[in-house]
Amino acid sequence: MSASPLAAGTTPSWTTLAQEFPALQQTVNGHPLVYLDSAATSLKPTAVIDAVCEYYRDYPSNVHRSVHTLAGRATEAYEAARTQVAGFIGAQPDTLVFTHGTTESLNLVAYGWARRHLQPGDEILLTPAEHHSNLVPWQQAARATGAHLVYVDLTPEGRLDLAALRAAFTARTRLVALAHVSNVLGTENPIRDVVQLAHRQDAVVVVDGAQSVPHLPVSVSDLGVDFFAFSGHKMCGPTGIGGLYGRPERLAETDPLLYGGEMIAEVDRERATWADVPYRFEGGTPNVAGAIGLGAAVAFLDRVGMDRIAAHSRALAQEAAERLTQLPGVTVYGPPTDRQALVTFNCEGVHPHDVAQVLDSQGIAVRAGHHCAQPLMQTLAIQSSARASFYLYNTREDVDRLVDGLREVGRYFGR
Ligand code: PLP
Repeated sequence: MSASPLAAGTTPSWTTLAQEFPALQQTVNGHPLVYLDSAATSLKPTAVIDAVCEYYRDYPSNVHRSVHTLAGRATEAYEAARTQVAGFIGAQPDTLVFTHGTTESLNLVAYGWARRHLQPGDEILLTPAEHHSNLVPWQQAARATGAHLVYVDLTPEGRLDLAALRAAFTARTRLVALAHVSNVLGTENPIRDVVQLAHRQDAVVVVDGAQSVPHLPVSVSDLGVDFFAFSGHKMCGPTGIGGLYGRPERLAETDPLLYGGEMIAEVDRERATWADVPYRFEGGTPNVAGAIGLGAAVAFLDRVGMDRIAAHSRALAQEAAERLTQLPGVTVYGPPTDRQALVTFNCEGVHPHDVAQVLDSQGIAVRAGHHCAQPLMQTLAIQSSARASFYLYNTREDVDRLVDGLREVGRYFGR
């Protein structure tokens, strides 16, 4: 890391910063890569790759088990990563459970908390903009408990309708589940307001932070949420690692999802008791390398500065949205202002997969499909769409390349 421009304690330009990402130092289909798919997964900086390699090379031991030196080093690094990642989201280390990502975190709440606490007739409030990972677990929990899903509509611009949310609360509302930032519309939901409304009714608030933690300074304690889920791979960390924050009183009333080694206090032939929180939720050998890599990722993001990253990605997405709106035949989805780091769009008469293919032929990576948000696609009356998402390694030149690439899509399809 000594060669890193970040190590000097200066403020490197975004172009300099991009050099920290080895995947960007390649051409794709004969063009320098423009990576606009960070909402699906982000690129990884050298600091993260090195931290993971160092673990596997120098101290590839299990954690919380053996007493030898390598195992001690692995346990220390794993727990140091917990402290670092918890600090990054404004939480205490013992309120952060390492999971394999947002999907597992939300399932842990749906199985471990919701199935234990929901009764027939209870209501779960959701929006139609939820990612399937923050929707299907609640459908299943509702089916298992006899609870009902209640959807709160969005405004015509695609924002959360707070008046509709207020009106949707009843005496049976027990849980509100929603994204902090939509992975399709780029809207940021007013979580503090939602928490205030929900807690007045003693309802629990579960936030899907998959698209916010990578891009915004987040403090779960300031937000006041009950549970908060996120994924490491979208925030410069490795795949297969993420987290669930839970308020201490909520984690105490949550059942484990995985039973087995390492999550127990005592076991006899008939029964077992559980280890303390958060260890009771980390049954089996955890993703040690992933946690260490995620620790390195948050250290990297902290050195760049989350306020800077937020402003940068937002500005690129806003500029892209405005310029795409002016292209003939292009429809941009989501509100015209306050857009977080992504822009979702369609080109009239061209399937989004074809859009993505033509862009790829120019070295530009975007996502095309339903973005794991089929109910939202139905609300927007479309089957699918293309999405360009921005992060700290993108520049204004990348927006130029996207706009030029879409002009090429238009020419290719004779528009
Ligand atoms: N929620 C949102 C808003 C997402 O964008 C994603 C991933 O795209 C997820 C949940 C699921 O994340 P993971 O696949 O890392 O579990």
